[in-house]
Amino acid sequence: MKHKLIICNWKLNGNKNFIKKYIKYLIKNYFILNLFKLSIAPPIIYIDYISKLIKNYNITLTVQNIDKHIQGAYTGEISIKMIKDFNIKYIILGHSEQIKYHNETLKDIFKKIILLQKYNFVPIICIGENYNEYKNKLSIKTCKKQINYLFKNNNIINNKNIILAYEPIWAINSKNNNKSNLLNIKHITKIIKFIKNYLNKINYNKNIKIIYGGSVNTDNINILINIKNISGLLIGTASWNIKNFIFLLKSIKLK
Ligand code: PEP
Repeated sequence: MKHKLIICNWKLNGNKNFIKKYIKYLIKNYFILNLFKLSIAPPIIYIDYISKLIKNYNITLTVQNIDKHIQGAYTGEISIKMIKDFNIKYIILGHSEQIKYHNETLKDIFKKIILLQKYNFVPIICIGENYNEYKNKLSIKTCKKQINYLFKNNNIINNKNIILAYEPIWAINSKNNNKSNLLNIKHITKIIKFIKNYLNKINYNKNIKIIYGGSVNTDNINILINIKNISGLLIGTASWNIKNFIFLLKSIKLK
């Protein structure tokens, strides 16, 4: 990955007016985008609208989630087959907000990884420990368990296009989570090193790219993006205000 990947996770935010202004400002600052691989993860209902606005630019689209079923009586869900109709590159899997609010399990995430492989999308697979695990020094144990479950017996190992997002749950959305006002960069660096070494050791796909997500902001972005073996960042809250987001990107100094 030549340029670092930046995924903007809009979560449950935005409307057509927001999107129009956002993309207009983004395009105005396009020179800065040439330094990164930018992908926007809007609410699924706006995928078609936004894809028309960005069609002449090197910006890709990411989907925030898909259902584990392909079709059938699953009211309210979105199938990977439907995603195929649009120009989408990445799909986020196993985000902690899906686990927290929709009881998603490792088994569900595993099923979705298999689907993505079949339909040729690049998965962004989220892993990471919760606050209790972090406090009880169980971060490595938790990440190891998640990697073992999601990657074992999975022909994902032969696929070049896999992104693993280390997203410690305690670090996500720190505005609403005063436990993590300050990111523990030393810890994050240690876990990323562990993940890289562990993937190599168990001989899973050596091409798996690791990105980091969780309360990226102007104070920490330069340290986080320059951590060894980091191929990019998943940015939630700090990507919602386009002016602040461009300011954030402009502040990056790659080593
Ligand atoms: C996320 O939810 O993936 C995320 C990184 O959010 P935030 O940047 O708001 O912590």
